[in-house]
Amino acid sequence: MTHETYKSWWSTQEGQRRTYMHPVGNGAPVDRAMPIMVVRGRRDGPTFLTLAGVHGNEIEGIAAVQELFAGMDPESLAGTWVAVGCSNVDAYLAADRGGAADGQDMARVFPGRPDGTLTERVAHCLTEDFIRRASFLCDLHSAGRTYRMAPMTGYALASGDLTAVQREAARAFGLPLVWGTAPNKGRSLSAALALGVPAIYTETTGTGGCLREDVAAYVEGVRRVMIHLRMLEGEAHPPSGQRLVEDSTPESGNLQEHNVTPVSGRFRAAVDVNDCVREGDLLGDVVDLFGKVRFECRAEKCGAVLMIRHVPRVEAGDALAVVV
Ligand SMILES: [Zn+2]
Repeated sequence: MTHETYKSWWSTQEGQRRTYMHPVGNGAPVDRAMPIMVVRGRRDGPTFLTLAGVHGNEIEGIAAVQELFAGMDPESLAGTWVAVGCSNVDAYLAADRGGAADGQDMARVFPGRPDGTLTERVAHCLTEDFIRRASFLCDLHSAGRTYRMAPMTGYALASGDLTAVQREAARAFGLPLVWGTAPNKGRSLSAALALGVPAIYTETTGTGGCLREDVAAYVEGVRRVMIHLRMLEGEAHPPSGQRLVEDSTPESGNLQEHNVTPVSGRFRAAVDVNDCVREGDLLGDVVDLFGKVRFECRAEKCGAVLMIRHVPRVEAGDALAVVV
């Protein structure tokens, strides 16, 4: 270990801003340590944790926290902002959703295990060294390479006051759609829920890129939540026209369970994100190598398209679209 300057983020002094590599520990490789950016204000306040790169090919959040850190002044901050600049380094280096070491989806293994796979060890470290010590969590995702998504902020429908706290913070983020769903197993949000830490997550375009406007919306959104939490001065009223949907159906928030194709082939989208559809409308179809339609994917309900498949090649069992 060559961490001569290593001091965990929670020992950051008032008025200090710093970066360091946080080791995963529990025997995980030292070169899979996580880049941490932390700013501690002059005044007391919440400890706001921002996670980026839980999926290694979702770059928007990684870019946003770098910009946030560059512009974060401890003199105007109450409390502590701590960001994990890339949570899943193994997956980031592989430019993939999961890492090369075990191929696991980190958003299915929280709260992790200290003696598990690399992905499970990282999730355990994130749970114990970060989420447990936070008073609020924001986990920045995107549609990655495979899908296109409309910008949204989500949260788990919990019991008691927690849902209201999460809903208001999700609205404050300022994205056009706010979506509360049944809690999912294995997410950073489920680890937070188990610890009583209010949490939200965000999604945006993806398609393998990192759009300038998506990064800007994430930077603005995190700042707006910090205003909402009274960590920064300013106003963060939800924008007019913001849509709020809550759905307590089990698995409602699991994007991979919506409109699954029963056949492999080539997907042809018939709609784009934000399109309004009615029940029975064609969302797209799956054709074989002769162009023959093998499956028609039709909307099961009326709503707006939140997510649509971007990469044409599909395997049976892949999600094609999500309507909310
Ligand atoms: Zn993700």
